[in-house]
Amino acid sequence: MRKVKFLKLLAALLSFLLLTGCVRPPEPTDPPSAEATPLLTVHYLDVGQADCALLESDGAYILIDGGNVGDSSLVVSYLRSQGVLELSAVFCSHAHEDHVGGLPGVLAVFPTEAVYAPTATHASDCFDDFVYYTDQQGLSITIPQPGDRYTFGDATVEVLGPVKSYPDPNDTSLVLMVTCGQRRFLFTGDMETGAENDLLDSGASVKADVLKVGHHGSETSTGYRFLYEVSPEHAVISVGADNTYGHPDEVPLSRLRDAGVTVYRTDLQGTVIASTDGKDLTFSWETGEALPEVETTPTVFIGNIKSKVFHRTGCGNLPKESNQVYFLTRFLAELAGYTPCTQCLS
Ligand SMILES: [Zn+2]
Ligand SMILES: [Zn+2]
Ligand SMILES: [Zn+2]
Repeated sequence: MRKVKFLKLLAALLSFLLLTGCVRPPEPTDPPSAEATPLLTVHYLDVGQADCALLESDGAYILIDGGNVGDSSLVVSYLRSQGVLELSAVFCSHAHEDHVGGLPGVLAVFPTEAVYAPTATHASDCFDDFVYYTDQQGLSITIPQPGDRYTFGDATVEVLGPVKSYPDPNDTSLVLMVTCGQRRFLFTGDMETGAENDLLDSGASVKADVLKVGHHGSETSTGYRFLYEVSPEHAVISVGADNTYGHPDEVPLSRLRDAGVTVYRTDLQGTVIASTDGKDLTFSWETGEALPEVETTPTVFIGNIKSKVFHRTGCGNLPKESNQVYFLTRFLAELAGYTPCTQCLS
């Protein structure tokens, strides 16, 4: 009897403690980690018509490209403002000035552990400076191969490409996949559609959450097939306001819209910062202003299987139902070899 009474008392005491919160039942899952320190932060610097990204993980920093020669002091002061004292690695995507130009200034200031580029020579003053300041650090340029991996903090960089050699420096761009936990960030330099397809044919795993859009949003990059395989949720276009190239082009912009990708542009949003704890992904940007609204209403296009012309749904020249085929986007229709109707899709 005494034992039963004791057990009852114990049960009463336990329920009292549970009610008052002194003893908590175990949480079914971890609470959402809104306040968690990011394990990886990616800064897409606004360097105008050029590329520069600073990545930080657990106090380790890497730099992918350094903007133009004239951006050098801006990049150096940005790195200082972020508390950078040294760099684990500097990656030069390719030899064009808008990617390598600012790197000599960075290498002149920050001790760096390793320097990577797709080539060790290029006939230009700024590339010579890049080689010179790499040398001054007691280093030489490493030309990485697909499959090479580097770790910084809690993140890894995997080299996916280039998978061939090319005459055009843009296509020689290092293709880098940065992974932290479940999140993947893809950097493609100025790689154009031909090299994109070679990369896909090589079997590289390009699926990513965030794509740094190739070649500043030029229509020669971000091919439909490539975008489909990457299928990012977010994309960043590093581009200068009112640039003479007309970047970003409407063609890749509309592909990104079709694919429902949230697009950040350094000419509109300034420096864009993505952070992840390996699971959640958050974005902030310099201007802080809301992103412009994009039309996301799904449309459908109707193709004529006989004439291989496609139309908007309301067109007066629609084929009879037995000859109709549906496309979710204009680009899927064009990919299938259909041409737009001159009346409804001019
Ligand atoms: Zn470029
Ligand atoms: Zn280039
Ligand atoms: Zn039509």
